[in-house]
Amino acid sequence: MTTWPVYATWTGPIVMIGFGSIGRGTLPLILRHIACDKNQITILDPDASWSQLAEQQGVKFIQQGLTKRNYKDVLKPLLTAGTGKALIVNLSVDVGSLDIMQLARDTGALYIDTVIEPWPGFYYNPKLSNADRTNYAMREQMLALKKKLGLGSTAVSCCGANPGMVSWFVKQALVNLAADMKLDIKEPTTREGWAKFMKRVGVKGIHVAERDTQRSRNPKPLDCFVNTWSVEGFISEGLQPAELGWGTHEKKLPSKGKRHKSGTGAAIYIDHPGADTRVRTWVPTAGANFGFLVTHNEAISIADYYTVRDGRKVTYRPTSHYAYHPSNAAVLSLHEMFGAGGRKQSTIHILAEDEIIDGMDELGVLLYGHKRNAYWYGSQLTIEEARKLAPYQNATGLQVTSAVLAGIVWAIENPSAGIVETDEMDFRRCLELQLPYLGNVAGYYTDWNPLKGRESLFPEVLDRRDPWQFSNIIVR
Ligand code: NAD
Repeated sequence: MTTWPVYATWTGPIVMIGFGSIGRGTLPLILRHIACDKNQITILDPDASWSQLAEQQGVKFIQQGLTKRNYKDVLKPLLTAGTGKALIVNLSVDVGSLDIMQLARDTGALYIDTVIEPWPGFYYNPKLSNADRTNYAMREQMLALKKKLGLGSTAVSCCGANPGMVSWFVKQALVNLAADMKLDIKEPTTREGWAKFMKRVGVKGIHVAERDTQRSRNPKPLDCFVNTWSVEGFISEGLQPAELGWGTHEKKLPSKGKRHKSGTGAAIYIDHPGADTRVRTWVPTAGANFGFLVTHNEAISIADYYTVRDGRKVTYRPTSHYAYHPSNAAVLSLHEMFGAGGRKQSTIHILAEDEIIDGMDELGVLLYGHKRNAYWYGSQLTIEEARKLAPYQNATGLQVTSAVLAGIVWAIENPSAGIVETDEMDFRRCLELQLPYLGNVAGYYTDWNPLKGRESLFPEVLDRRDPWQFSNIIVR
């Protein structure tokens, strides 16, 4: 029998909200690495399809969905039942993260989630303006709550693979780049220091460049949306406007690109769905490829974190965005959905580990525009490795759940940090905890840029003076 390293001890109740693909993968990692009392763990989900899986592991499952009306009544007794303080692990869709964070603070509980999730009525609400349907708008609300609550019981916001782990990769990639460039810079200890560090390294922008090549033995059926993680989650974010952190080197807003009227100003949005907006990017195995400009919290938080100011004037900020090539079945699913006028398919399916025949999730950060051109640093996790490392999940899932594990351990080790984003956490400690689950983690330089191979047959309007302008990256 394998003896797993125990990273932390938790004596109070643990409440997991949502037992979907990520919840099912996270539970065994918690049981492996956190010394806790199984009798004090409760899972809440309105869908009881997987209740037996929880019960087999000795954990209580309650078939119950949370709503804006009932969440306090349902959660309070669970959070205050045990001997110690509670830990809330929110891995659901349709549950308002910020209300749960406030409740966590009111009851002294620790909290973690993987996205800022709104209550129903946000993603598909035609009465909201597109500016109000952005992740920027949701993050502004989170920042307001962070400010209001100040220091206190730790709540880790957006700690999955991305958002989450990729923010730790950005720091590691910067440190690697600086060492390879032989820059004599001491590793920073503050946000301002990290932002100046990135400026000094000369990074113009960052793609969270992901290519998922996991394939099922069963081809995608007609009228079914297939994905390697939450279909609901992917469709909701895919139908939000495309968003990106907007760098200081950019010369021109993209067509339909808009700035926000208030807040940090770190990002812009495009009046078009992210999952129907393509960008050019690069990952080590496939090389150059198209990704979707799906909005993600990290695109905004990274751009904000690495902003350098002189007084109120912004003197440096990187462009930062997701460039996601999901599994081929998911690409076909998007094609089908947008082709049908945005109507969601009548069935949905998340690829289970045992139906995937091969493939990997290659997920990293591409730091571009510096003297060494571009550098990708990330995780290359195959389905075969994922299968050996942990149960009930595919490669995509394991990159997420191991980040949740790292975030929980960090929160237990730093219990009074207030609301934090992953950019603010100790990247070395978090990666140390996560690395055993990430397969090959490596850095690759490339001479690729978004002008490569262009204009051989068709004329295009390109900025040849600066290949790294977003106008060259977006596919028109
Ligand atoms: P999933 O669709 O497989 O599962 C979501 C679960 O939430 C379902 O079991 C559903 O029944 C449950 N749920 C729905 N309404 C609920 C309610 N009102 N109360 C409690 N539970 C409710 O999704 P998943 O793949 O497990 O993803 C979970 C969350 O993690 C999603 O929000 C997703 O966007 C996010 N995610 C983040 C990352 C990242 O890297 N940051 C990656 C993958 C998923």
